[in-house]
Amino acid sequence: MRRPLIAGNWKMHKTVRETLEYIKSFRELVRDVEDREIVLAPPFTALWIAGHELAGTAVRLAAQNAHWAESGAFTGEISPLMLKECGVTYVILGHSERRHIFGETDEMIRKRLEGVIGAGLRPILCIGETLEEREAGRTLEVLGRQVQAALQGFTREDLRDLVVAYEPVWAIGTGKTATPEQAQEAQSYVRKLLADLGGKEWAQEVRILYGGSVKPENISDLMSQPDVDGALVGGASLNPETFAKIVKYA
Ligand code: PEP
Repeated sequence: MRRPLIAGNWKMHKTVRETLEYIKSFRELVRDVEDREIVLAPPFTALWIAGHELAGTAVRLAAQNAHWAESGAFTGEISPLMLKECGVTYVILGHSERRHIFGETDEMIRKRLEGVIGAGLRPILCIGETLEEREAGRTLEVLGRQVQAALQGFTREDLRDLVVAYEPVWAIGTGKTATPEQAQEAQSYVRKLLADLGGKEWAQEVRILYGGSVKPENISDLMSQPDVDGALVGGASLNPETFAKIVKYA
């Protein structure tokens, strides 16, 4: 049985002070939620204080990226070890903004995954096609390339905590959500790819999230699909009341 996971990606939003205000209100709003996992991904500068304020709650912390090395001459990067010290459990990798704005390649994402797994953190691997790729009928091919490139060389044991987030690039921050059927088509294909790589039994256990303009109004329909096991939420996670509504979808 896959436990639903709802994660909020704050991107480059919220100072330490704003993080404290958010968490004070959010932890009360979700206090009684038990049957699903809740994850918040603040910016690096707010991780430590967020970890401190979330201690004793069921809300887990995610980072928005990580380098592959423990330390070294990598200006501007953060190591998995540093994230672990801040109380981080999950790390988002390969987000479309990392791929498309900052030029992260499949190979870089695979290396980051290696660092995250090596540190005992849980990866949330983001994949997704652009509008151009969808319109050219290449969606499944792109997903196949991204999954295979990121996961090659890992054992099933390495990937026991893997979470995949299907995030069509055309749906991120645009207000254009994929239909539940589009999400299901892509995500059942991803599960098939995972089964080819690591076996059917393992693939059935991997949670596959949908991300792209998720809101309180569309979460229930998306979650009704058999291969949608949760959501990665950007804009709508920035307000504690709105995000709590998404977390508490019926
Ligand atoms: C995201 O950043 O992963 C995301 C899905 O953003 P939004 O919900 O704003 O589309």
